[in-house]
Amino acid sequence: MVSNEADQVVVTGSPKQQLFRGRSATDLLPALLALLDGNRTHAELGVELGQSEEVIFKALSLLWTCGVIEEGPPDPAPTWGSDDRLADYLSRVGSATEANASWEHAATRLRTAEVEIFGDPMLAALIREELTGSLPVTLGAGGLPTEHATLVVWADADADADADAGAVAEHCWAKGIPLLRMRVRGRRAALGPLVDPRTTPCLDCLTVYDEDDDRTATGGDCALAAALFARDLFAAVSRTTPSPLPMRWRLVDLETLGQKDTSSATRPGCPCCSVAEGPVAERAALATRFEASVAMPPKEFADLKAHQMHYKPSNMALQRVSRTWPVAPVVELLPPAHDRLDQQWPAVQPSPNTLSLLLSVTAGIKADSADKVSRWTASGGNIGSVTAYAVVRDIPGIEPGTYGYVAAGHRLARLSSLTDGVPGDRPVSLVLTGDFPKVARKYSAFALRIVLLDSGCAQATTREAARTLGIGFALRPHWDDDDLAAALGIDPNVEPVTAVIDLGDPR
Ligand SMILES: [Zn+2]
Repeated sequence: MVSNEADQVVVTGSPKQQLFRGRSATDLLPALLALLDGNRTHAELGVELGQSEEVIFKALSLLWTCGVIEEGPPDPAPTWGSDDRLADYLSRVGSATEANASWEHAATRLRTAEVEIFGDPMLAALIREELTGSLPVTLGAGGLPTEHATLVVWADADADADADAGAVAEHCWAKGIPLLRMRVRGRRAALGPLVDPRTTPCLDCLTVYDEDDDRTATGGDCALAAALFARDLFAAVSRTTPSPLPMRWRLVDLETLGQKDTSSATRPGCPCCSVAEGPVAERAALATRFEASVAMPPKEFADLKAHQMHYKPSNMALQRVSRTWPVAPVVELLPPAHDRLDQQWPAVQPSPNTLSLLLSVTAGIKADSADKVSRWTASGGNIGSVTAYAVVRDIPGIEPGTYGYVAAGHRLARLSSLTDGVPGDRPVSLVLTGDFPKVARKYSAFALRIVLLDSGCAQATTREAARTLGIGFALRPHWDDDDLAAALGIDPNVEPVTAVIDLGDPR
């Protein structure tokens, strides 16, 4: 729907309402939109509207980016008819993922699916009711899925049905058929996991963390859970709307409607999905579960639209955010002499010159132009998550103490005259931390992974630069997070310590 006010055009009906301002919007857009029937070329549109082809292309690009228009039908166009309401819906929301060039692509995905539902009969019937009209769905008649099934649903509402689930899951795993499990216990619904032998762990590994619930379900709980489940299944099959599937799935509290995503990982030694031999671990390690929870989905499930978040102004601005410690006394650093890195130097102890250079290449800014901040070390999303601290014990020309490195401005902030919060016998220690909240503003939970990868890049840079400068370099394998956090005045849950590096040789 388009509403044309004095100096703006508002387009509603797409996932986000779009507002276009200015004369070209009010003059050109309504006339252009009326002609977009998929039959005219850019040149023909230009002639009819008295505009150059370039202007038409720019306007169409803008409308496409905003999700107002989509490509015409594939050639040859599908010959089958489709429910008008479904077609409208697919066309409107399709830009949310940009996985389908046009609604016909999404409709084809739905039409060629064969969903077979097994498990609890009542829950299965509710799910089928929700999905009927959108895609072919049948209630599994026999004990096992047919060879036509492209997706099998296991509806689990009863703790006694676990043995049957095992048989269906085993069959699907052996035949390579994706299995989507739904589970209701008490007032808790799990809208997954999706088990696909090509890409995911097995059902047993994914459901290790299933939780029970001692609340009694009330009327309508199962219908609500089935509707929410059908929504996620529809999203995963049609690829028109974002969905946590296939890497994660939703856990919904049917009383509060609170929800969270969950995930799991292969248990080492699992006879079904692990390559490791030996006894089956009870659970996957926490780090593995984190990796699994933020892993990129397989290519066929990637949302092309997600890439556009890199160009959001608020995300572009993050590259300029950094710690400054505004109330701490400022200690100027010598300008970093990067050309010193052009040759190998004999062994030497750190000096104000080399400390300046090492901080610059580890966590500093190379150049700051209007559209981009350049760094000396690679950084996820060019956000620059590494914050460096220097604990100076013995560098002639720099007062002993604990300093924060202000990347914007290349200077030190004197945080404390103490050095015993980071005990050591080298002239200086660098402590690297990760600015998790800054990265999380763009990358959410994935931010921790970026923070750790960024730190690895920074450590590699420090090591290479120190080696070239002839300065001793030693990474500490252990440290006490709480002691370091107290010494630096940070909250380790928000700003994790990622490395402690000793520089120079013991005096
Ligand atoms: Zn497994």
